[in-house]
Amino acid sequence: MSNVTIKKIHTELLDIPIKRPHQFSTEKVSSKSFVFIRIELSNGIVGIGEGTTPGIWWNGESVETMKLVIDKYVIPLLLNEDPSYIEKLLKTVDRQIRVNPFAKATVEMALFDALGKLYNVPVHQLLGSLYQDKIPVRWALASGTVDGDVQEAKKYVSSNEYVNFKTKSGKEIPEEDAKRNLQIAEGMKGVSTIGIDPNGSWDRITTIKWMDQFFEAGIDFLEQPLSPRDIEGAAMLVDMKKVPVMADESLATVQDAFLLAKEKAANIFSLKIHKSGGMKNTIKIAGIAEAAGISCFGGTSLESSIGTAACLHALASVPNLDYGSELFGPTWLADDPVKEPLYFKDGFIHVPNKPGLGVELDEEKVAKYRRKEQGEVIV
Ligand SMILES: [Mg+2]
Repeated sequence: MSNVTIKKIHTELLDIPIKRPHQFSTEKVSSKSFVFIRIELSNGIVGIGEGTTPGIWWNGESVETMKLVIDKYVIPLLLNEDPSYIEKLLKTVDRQIRVNPFAKATVEMALFDALGKLYNVPVHQLLGSLYQDKIPVRWALASGTVDGDVQEAKKYVSSNEYVNFKTKSGKEIPEEDAKRNLQIAEGMKGVSTIGIDPNGSWDRITTIKWMDQFFEAGIDFLEQPLSPRDIEGAAMLVDMKKVPVMADESLATVQDAFLLAKEKAANIFSLKIHKSGGMKNTIKIAGIAEAAGISCFGGTSLESSIGTAACLHALASVPNLDYGSELFGPTWLADDPVKEPLYFKDGFIHVPNKPGLGVELDEEKVAKYRRKEQGEVIV
């Protein structure tokens, strides 16, 4: 226990531009929205956190719903409580508020940042220490054309900025998507290869039909090819023993992890702190993967350096992170709202080592990107 309490909690929305439009399966985006949270303790320490999602299509939450859930329902549960009881506080929040894992992860992030600052240790030392202090990063190709993706990949490999890639799929019909990805893999032959992420938009027949060609083209993995609810279909793909199958949208809770392991419906787990409600849950899921012989991958919700720092603190203690990560959010954004962005070098991102999350808000940038009408979306 500590001798301080949670005194004040404040949230606000930000919209930060991105470097180039990003094609997801359902929409093309040109800026990224965030909810920022500050948790102030009675001794003046302030913990910061950030919530963001690929879009409301991903799991049903948006930055607006996160802000509302935190302001109206989470804050009353935390005020005047001892921040060193994070596990207990989060269990209370879980009992009072169903689902909303992105909102809960945002709160957990700020609580751990505050606690790390209180005890003067980086968050990874509160979560399970270090297995690694830097993590490989894979870049997501999403230019919208085969040529654009191939050229982008080759440019990154030659500058040694990124050497592994994945593609976003799901905009076209599955058959066209499969062909396009094979063309990209073909164009990159001898240079690198890709993992494919259709965000659950493919069907069993198409995926099975193209599996041999994906395997021969050296595709690294198929990330959530089928609907998140089609566990039986995912198990069929795993049973083909060709391209490894990654669970992303189908994996959020520890119970999801247990089910996927039990049904042999994944070769790889995509670990994401927001979809799982925080860093601690993410580490628990990695433990289930380890027990089941499943590899892990550090997924992203395209966070800035704040959320990405939290991802790094969680993944730093995971030994079975065999597929590295896609923690490129801070370099994907056109601006990063921190004083000192996270350190990327030669395809690796480094785990911060300062107390708390190890990143500090740049108040000028926060003011610049703060949404003018906090209740409305600016389009
Ligand atoms: Mg994914």
